[in-house]
Formats: sequence, structure tokens, C-alpha cells
Amino acid sequence: MKLLLSFFFAMVAYNCSGQRILDVTHYNFDLELSDRSDSIKGKAGISFTCLADTQRISIDLRQPTKGGNGFTVSSVILDKKSLSFTQSDDKVIFDLAGAGKNGAALIVTISYSGIPADGLIISKNMFGKRSFFADNWPNRAMQWIPCVDSPSDKAAVDFIVTAPEHYKVISNGLMIEDQLIGGGKRRTHYKEEVPLPTKIMVIGLADFATEQSGKVGPVPVSSWVYAENKKDGFKDYAIAVPILQWLKDYIGQFPYKKLAHVQSKTIYGGMENAGAIFYAENTVNGLADNEALIAHETAHQYFGDMVTEINFSHVWLSEGFASYMTQLFLESKYGADSLAKRMATDRQSIISFSRQKKLPVIDTVSQYMALLNTNSYQKGSWILHMLRRETGDSVFRQTIRDYYRTYAGKNASSADLQKMFEQSIKHPMDTFFHQWLRVPGQPDLEIRWSYNAESSLLQITVKQQQPDLFVFPLEIAIEAKDHTKQVIKFNINQPRQIFLLPYPAEPLAIHPDPNVSLLYSGTVIRK
Ligand SMILES: [Zn+2]
Repeated sequence: MKLLLSFFFAMVAYNCSGQRILDVTHYNFDLELSDRSDSIKGKAGISFTCLADTQRISIDLRQPTKGGNGFTVSSVILDKKSLSFTQSDDKVIFDLAGAGKNGAALIVTISYSGIPADGLIISKNMFGKRSFFADNWPNRAMQWIPCVDSPSDKAAVDFIVTAPEHYKVISNGLMIEDQLIGGGKRRTHYKEEVPLPTKIMVIGLADFATEQSGKVGPVPVSSWVYAENKKDGFKDYAIAVPILQWLKDYIGQFPYKKLAHVQSKTIYGGMENAGAIFYAENTVNGLADNEALIAHETAHQYFGDMVTEINFSHVWLSEGFASYMTQLFLESKYGADSLAKRMATDRQSIISFSRQKKLPVIDTVSQYMALLNTNSYQKGSWILHMLRRETGDSVFRQTIRDYYRTYAGKNASSADLQKMFEQSIKHPMDTFFHQWLRVPGQPDLEIRWSYNAESSLLQITVKQQQPDLFVFPLEIAIEAKDHTKQVIKFNINQPRQIFLLPYPAEPLAIHPDPNVSLLYSGTVIRK
């Protein structure tokens, strides 16, 4: 996603010794929405496997605050038997009545009702029409659906929505039923069989106009926009088709059976919900100028949705990947010079951010919204850029494809990505991954040079001024008086290194990092 607005807090679903005690395999959410009130009635069928002998299970669900919104549970059923339960600390807690044996596959059904305090945005759209849009990132799914609200527990999902018949309903997966059921109501059923993290399980209801903008292989790509601005909206979202085509060619087959681009009330600029990307309302303007945003959210379908970070500390595997895949798409369309310009701009943002906050990319803050920062996006993207520069275009691309194929439908950590690159280049990459992901900041270089005409030697001294030593290749272009340039690569691995190079005449200048391949700040001084 893009953009941040406020703060939310951590939620985990493990037992008291920190061990995961269940693995949800499928959610079946049967929801009833109306125009009469914002109250929702829901039935959540949760299929899960016990990962240990366990009695007590807790499922995340926002409970009502005093005088405020939230959900009250009326029953928890296992095998047609009612279980006793309590609601406490925004969890539904119940005993499995002896059924919770290690390896047991169980289905509980939780019936609940109430008004969502957050997570499902019920409001009026820009045309004053009522709409419903789920907006779960990072852990706001539990604000409206009972679930294990953690990116590490992925599950298949069905949404069955009963709502006033004037709405069109969008969700993850394929629509397998959409019919009028009498009494002015419509029932719509979507099924997604690929396991998803809860952060991207959504529904959206509005008076949409819809159009299929194209197909990429067997995958229909469609636009869902407010009926009032369908002319602009269809034009704005149609550019999504060639973007998906490019991503499919670069990474691999698109993982879901359809991709809808949806005008919505998300609090973000865009939100990468699987198979149904939600965009801010103002992305419809008739200018078709949201290419980078659409590329970013579409890339998330692969990275973030299909390969999901094991926890939010590794969110750069989602945001950094979506950002760099966007850079690669734009490079393919507008050329290598355009990439160099954008990477140089991002580098400036990273340097400014590092001067304000001394934070590593892998950051264990509990306020996940704080992770939507320059480290996760631009620096994550830059780390992939440096991996590409160090391994070469074809090895980089193949490793990204292998990483995607290996972890598709699963979770991955930064160490998993490191392993994939180490397998590709057959060389340990501990230093690279440690210094760029775990150490705040980047190299801050002082590069001094002088020329001795008598000995015809060019002396270049590279000094690392930042607190932690970095190891990296540094290219320097030496520019002769006739403006011809020679690029030389230096291995920098000491606080201060002196290089002496035979050179026929005094250079006009030297230019560090002429190909925009290194994340660094620095100055060049001619002695
Ligand atoms: Zn994103």
C-alpha cells in the first residue's frame, strides 16, 4: 500500500509459551449488510488444524467498547455443539471440549453482530452514495471479521454477502454466485482457494460500473468504479492491463483467477487486496496518470499477497519489492536513464530519512503504521537494486523468479531471500544482508583525489565516515580533459583505503558511482 494516516497496535495469536497452537486453513464469512443501519450480522466458519494438544483457543475480534462500536458474539459452535466462550482483550476465547488434539482438523462457527469501529469503512462516497469498503492493513481485519489477524497465518477464504440489491459486490477470488433472493436483497458469493493473509481479505460494496479492460493469459482484468465517473474511471484503470502483462513476463504466472481495480474509500493511496486492488477515490481523474501506483499495487499481488512477509518486521519484502518491481516496469517502458534518475531521487529521500531517524530496515516496532516509511519502500527498493547490480540482470531476475516460485502461497523472511541469492551466486551474502537490513544508515564517503604528473599516478583515497563499516563495490568514472571517461571498480572494505592508478595525464574530474549503483552519501575533494 501507499501512504499512512494513523497508528495501530500489534496483535498475536500464540499460546503463553510463544508456540503457535493453530493453523487456520479456511474462513467462510457469511455477512448481512443493510442500508437501514451500519449494524452487521455475521457467521464465521473457521477451519483450522491444531498444532499442539490444546484446550483453549482465542480468535481476534474487536469487542464493543463502553458506549462504542464493536462486535458481540452470540454463539461458538463445534460439531453442532455450543461451546462456552468469553470475549476479552478483543479476543473470542473458547474451550475445545477435548477435541483439540495435536493434528486435529476442526471447524468452529462464530455468530456475531455489531457495528464495526474500523476495518470495514461504512460511509458515503464522493457522490454522496453509501458504500462499504474493507481496509484491513495492518491488523484491522479483526475489527470486522473473527480471525487470526497475523500475516503468518494464511488461509483460503469465502465471502458470502447478503445486501440491498442495488449494490455490486467485489471481493477476493472468483464470483461463484450473484443472485436476487427476494425482499430487495442480493446474495453474492466469492471464493478464493489460494491462501491469503488476513490483511488483504476484503469486500467492497457500492453502486459500481464495471468493465473488463482486457485479459492477461486466462486472467480477466476489470475496472470497478463509481457509476457517476465511469468514463474517466474505465480510462484510468485500463492502463493496468499492460502492467500486469509485464509483471507476468518478468516474475511468472499471475496467482489469482481475476484482477479487479476498484475505486474505493481506502485510507491509503492504494491497497493491494488479493485479486481486488482498492484505490483512493481521487485516482479516477480521466488523466490515466497513476501508472506507478497501479504497477506498485499489482506487483504486491506477487510480493506481499502471494509471498507474504513472515511478520511486519520484514515488511520491506512487500513494500521494497513492490517499489522496485515498479522501477523495473518503468525502466522497461521509459529506459535506463529514467531508472537512474528515479533511483537517484529515492537515494536522496533515504539519506534525508537516515539523518532524521537511526533505524534499520528490519525494525521490530509494534506500531506497524510506523513501518510505512522510507526504509521499507525506497531503501528496500534500493537494496534490490544493489542486489541486481552485484549479481547482474539475468541472475537477479532468475533469483527473483525462483524466490517467488519457492514461497508462493507461503511466508518468507529476509533470511529466506538471502538463501535464494546465495544459492544463485554460490557465495555467502551475510555481510550484504546484515549491513543493508540490520544497520541504520548507509556509507558516507569522503573521496579525495590528486594527480602526480611526475610519476603519472592518480591517487584516490576513500574514507568511510559513518559509524559502522560497510563492504561494497564502488565504481568511479575518471574523466579525461577530452571528456572521455574510464570506469574503474574498487572493492571498499576498510575505514580508509588509498588507491594508486597509473594514468597518462591529469584528469578533468572523477565521478563516483556514475551508473547509480550504490546507496551512499559523500563528497569529492580535489587536493
Ligand atoms: Zn505498497
